[in-house]
This record gives sequence, structure tokens and C-alpha cells, in this order.
Amino acid sequence: MRIVLMGPPGAGKGTQAPRLAEKINASHVSTGDMLRAEVAARTRLGLMAKKFMDAGDLVPDQVMIDMIAARMANDDDNAHPSIILDGFPRTVSQAEALDDALQATGGAIDAAIMLDVERGELVRRLAGRATCANCKTPYHLTFSPPSKDGACDNCGGELVRRPDDQPEAVRNRLRVYDEQTAPVLEYYRAKNKLTVIDGAGAPDDVFKLLLSSVRS
Ligand code: ADP
Ligand code: ADP
Ligand code: ZN
Repeated sequence: MRIVLMGPPGAGKGTQAPRLAEKINASHVSTGDMLRAEVAARTRLGLMAKKFMDAGDLVPDQVMIDMIAARMANDDDNAHPSIILDGFPRTVSQAEALDDALQATGGAIDAAIMLDVERGELVRRLAGRATCANCKTPYHLTFSPPSKDGACDNCGGELVRRPDDQPEAVRNRLRVYDEQTAPVLEYYRAKNKLTVIDGAGAPDDVFKLLLSSVRS
């Protein structure tokens, strides 16, 4: 099973995808996490991508298409029967390239699931987002704070805020989402592969909806 998890910044993709991956024994592929790892390692790709990411702009399509092709060819994934793509595709060109690449191996995307959350809530979520620098567990400083200030409940790692969660970058990311990523929803809708679920509830409730959508 190949699932694309979609939704605007702050919708809860990074919160839900690892849970779903564990539940259905899928690999979780997050292009945002992959890019942030490149930035942290100060690779040539990371240094190039950082400028786009900090401003809330998209990294160029060909860079992302090459990155995901390399990742999906990775042997690690053979251990998993399924894959959850989180943060890719983000443009219609990326969606087309993904379909072409899968078609060449006789595969296809089975479902695109969109977490639907209204604008004001997205802004509140991003304004309080903090992530463990070590294990990447997501927190929210108000809605799901760690039990000890600034430290991850899971591993004790340091909680960090993302540079692109500053208000100006958030405004740009929401605009970029409307202009470049929302058309991807129509792309999957036209293929009868899109399910929209309500992402406004508590994380456990959203997870239940997500799971029943995957199992139907
Ligand atoms: P969020 O979860 O807040 O939507 P991500 O962690 O998925 O954000 O992505 C962070 C940033 O990484 C994006 O704003 C963009 O600059 C870059 N990025 C991630 N995935 C892609 C992609 N598929 N195409 C282009 N840029 C991407
Ligand atoms: P995305 O990956 O789609 O950008 P995240 O999963 O990182 O979104 O969530 C953004 C912020 O909102 C994080 O601080 C996270 O803890 C919080 N969050 C995620 N899901 C919910 C929810 N259902 N209700 C309240 N806050 C949430
Ligand atoms: Zn941690």
C-alpha cells in the first residue's frame, strides 16, 4: 500500500504519520525531515535547500524528485510492505513524476488522504510547535507540552523551534500551499484517490479517522 498524506502546514502530518506507519507496518518518508537532516549535516544539498525552507518557499521540483527517487530505491524499505509519503508530492509536477516512476515498476499510489484544518487553527499550531532535536517527536507548547520544560519525554532530547515557524514564513507557506500544493488535491480527486478527513479534533480522534480511512 502506498499512501500520500497531505494537508497544509500545521495540519498534523508529522504527528500522525509515524503513528500510522507503526500501526500498519509502513515506512514513513518525510521530505521535510530529509531536508532538515541535510541542513543539519551541512551538505551541499542542505545549504542550497535552507534558503528556500527558511523563507517558506518550496525547494525546486527536480531536486525533490531526485531525492524521493533515491529514497524509494533504498533497500531499507523492502522490509516494509507499505509506504507513507509525508510532504511529497507538493506540486502537480511532483505528483506526475511520482506516478511515472511508480508506473515504470508496475506500482501506483493507492490513496491520498488530506487532513483538513482551518486557517486560524493552523496558525495557532505552528506558533507553538516544538520538535525534539534528537528523535523528532512533535510537541506543542500549549496543546501538548512536554512534562519537563524544553526536554523530550521520549528521549530527553532538546526541544527546538523551526525557523520557518516564524510568522512571516508561516504566512508565505500558507500562500505557497494554496497556490502550488492545493492543485495536487484536485490531481488525486480526478483519479478518485482523494479522501479528506477532519483534522480539527484531538490527535487521538484524528488518528482514528485516519486509520478507518486507510482500512476502508
Ligand atoms: P510542514 O510539515 O510544516 O508542512 P515540511 O516539514 O513538510 O513542512 O517541509 C518543510 C519545508 O521543506 C517546506 O516549507 C519546503 O521548503 C521544503 N519541502 C519539504 N517537502 C518538499 C517538497 N516535496 N517540495 C518542495 N519543498 C519541500
Ligand atoms: P505538519 O507536519 O502537518 O506541519 P505537525 O504534526 O508538526 O504538522 O503539527 C503542528 C503542530 O500542531 C505541532 O506542534 C503539533 O504538536 C500540533 N498538533 C498536531 N496535531 C494536533 C491536533 N490534532 N490538535 C492540536 N495540536 C496538534
Ligand atoms: Zn526525543
